[in-house]
Amino acid sequence: MMNINLSEILSNPSAIKNFTVEPSFEVLELKRNSYPVAYKEPFVLNVQKEAGKIHLKGNTVIDLFIPCDRCLTDVRNHFEIDIDCFVVPNKESDGLEDDEQSFMDGCILDVDKLISNEIVVALPTKVLCKEDCKGLCPICGSNLNHGDCGCDRHVADPRMAAIQDIFKNFNS
Ligand SMILES: [Zn+2]
Ligand SMILES: [Zn+2]
Repeated sequence: MMNINLSEILSNPSAIKNFTVEPSFEVLELKRNSYPVAYKEPFVLNVQKEAGKIHLKGNTVIDLFIPCDRCLTDVRNHFEIDIDCFVVPNKESDGLEDDEQSFMDGCILDVDKLISNEIVVALPTKVLCKEDCKGLCPICGSNLNHGDCGCDRHVADPRMAAIQDIFKNFNS
């Protein structure tokens, strides 16, 4: 956990501070999934008091391994995190999504949570290792991108059976 105490900024109306911190998590832990960090850059955060609120501006870059929806191979996903928001210390943040967590606890800013919330909202709805990923064999579980396993998968699907018939006729 990587924390920044904002109380000094709060007590000084003209305070501006820059922080460079390393997000400490190696895996992004969500409710249903966890994604290993492939690469991360230091997080550069500018903190400024503005009209009773605290203005947070910062950016960083994080790559995560997210499994392909079809074959489950890890795919490297690139996230450019750009934060520009206002927080009111000591106030519970509301309106958080399922996997989002409050990153403020009193005057303590939790950098890991701030960044992981940004990633959660930027997560792709679909992850494929390549557009035409063939997925896994439903019978033996082999990765079909590495070649055919020889299982007879197509009979159960009438559309595929029709295509197979066309090929049989074509070959004979
Ligand atoms: Zn795939
Ligand atoms: Zn198979």
